[in-house]
Amino acid sequence: RMSPSVKASRFEGKVVIVTAATQGIGYAIAERLAQEGAAVVISSRKEKNVQEAVSSLRASGCKRVEGVVCHIGKAEDRENLVKFTLSKFGRIDVLVNNHGINPIFGDILDVDEAMWDRLFETNVKNGWQMSKLVIPHMKKIGGGSIIFNSSYSAYKTPAMGIAAYAITKTAMLALVKALAGTLAKDNIRVNGIAPGIIKTKMSAAMWDNGEKSGEDNIISASEIMLGRLGVPEECGGTVAFLASDDASYITGETILVAGGVQSRL
Ligand code: NAP
Repeated sequence: RMSPSVKASRFEGKVVIVTAATQGIGYAIAERLAQEGAAVVISSRKEKNVQEAVSSLRASGCKRVEGVVCHIGKAEDRENLVKFTLSKFGRIDVLVNNHGINPIFGDILDVDEAMWDRLFETNVKNGWQMSKLVIPHMKKIGGGSIIFNSSYSAYKTPAMGIAAYAITKTAMLALVKALAGTLAKDNIRVNGIAPGIIKTKMSAAMWDNGEKSGEDNIISASEIMLGRLGVPEECGGTVAFLASDDASYITGETILVAGGVQSRL
């Protein structure tokens, strides 16, 4: 589905990697950047999902899209994702670290230690590792842009028992700032988005009880000013802005895409 409202072509000639991008927010980011002219490489854990997502993006008019399996926790998969991208498109201008997991609901004191480690490993460490892999290739072409997908919960731990996840997302705000500081001299900008509650499979446990009341309850409990949940395309638009030259004087920032939820540290 090519959105008729996208008239910009800010990524003509640019090559983009989006992690965890076979559905949800990552897919919408890949689609938007491709609609604006980028060559895009998507990835996720399952070959079938990768193939389906590539086909569906191509069917919607995004011709320069390729995909490869990359379980973000596997070093060889991360390295292969970079190699694959270079072999298909020859350069890397933008990395979107979209991956993130939220496998637990409950009190922070009840979080299993192995799960705590896995959360930090995936949400914080794997993005840092992916960034380190692409930075030399960005330096080679004189610059680039790295975007992290954090969460509004980085700023305000919501009531639904996802504190450990929220802490990893807060850590990502600092990771964005630290990388931005060290990479500014190389003309590499580093920013993030902090989505609110976006309608995807991951967030469905928060709003999908099979009825509209599920959505209404979370909208009022979370005091979402705009009175609705977000959709993945709204994150895609913000990432496109941050990764483009329109944001050439923005680095180290994480922008809330959360319908006006009160979220400040
Ligand atoms: P989603 O719709 O459930 O999609 C998750 C995607 O990640 C799928 O393509 C999945 O494909 C892939 N994936 C899962 N584990 C992976 C791994 N270990 N390595 C590589 N790929 C993996 O999720 P989403 O809601 O779009 O979430 C995407 C990001 O947005 C996450 O970082 C999340 O924390 C953040 N976020 C979401 C919301 C929200 O309300 N939805 C709010 C704030 C932040 P496979 O199964 O094939 O691996």
